[in-house]
Amino acid sequence: MNEQHAALLHHAPRSQKPADTWARLCCEQAILAVEHGCYGVGAVLVNQAHELLCSARNQVFVDGHYNSAGHAEMQLLDQLEAEHPQQDRSVLTLYVSLQPCLMCYGRILLAGIPRVRYLAVDKPGGFTGKGLPPAWAELAAHTSIHQARVDSYWINLAEQAISTLQDRQVMRQRVLSAWRGTSLP
Ligand SMILES: [Zn+2]
Repeated sequence: MNEQHAALLHHAPRSQKPADTWARLCCEQAILAVEHGCYGVGAVLVNQAHELLCSARNQVFVDGHYNSAGHAEMQLLDQLEAEHPQQDRSVLTLYVSLQPCLMCYGRILLAGIPRVRYLAVDKPGGFTGKGLPPAWAELAAHTSIHQARVDSYWINLAEQAISTLQDRQVMRQRVLSAWRGTSLP
């Protein structure tokens, strides 16, 4: 991790609440994603004993290829299903640095994750769960997705990871290039 980014983690206030620990890990993953030229989003899965089960970050642009399913939550749930098939999902909480998008919201429901706590609100891209078809609404009724109660430092850092720490225009150009089938800028 570069020095400037590492300082953002080191200058953080001491953890006041248990969720601050997970917020820190989400932000660390988000910053690593930025350093790898991906969207600055990170996520972790923890169990009822406050143990870390999986961690992941956005990987939409890895190895020069575009993976539209490479969102942090998707990577995290791939890991859960591949590495912990015996894990009881009902005790899990998913922390993510940014409010889940439409795709990830659906995946969270299908994966049976009962609790999601996000740091930064994603006004233009976050899915609120409104307007779901009946079967999906039924799944969503068993899922609680809210903003995490953490120190505002982490919410601000999660916002920075997706805005000022990276150039959104460049990211957009990469997606458009991928859609055209040309190599990524
Ligand atoms: Zn997503």
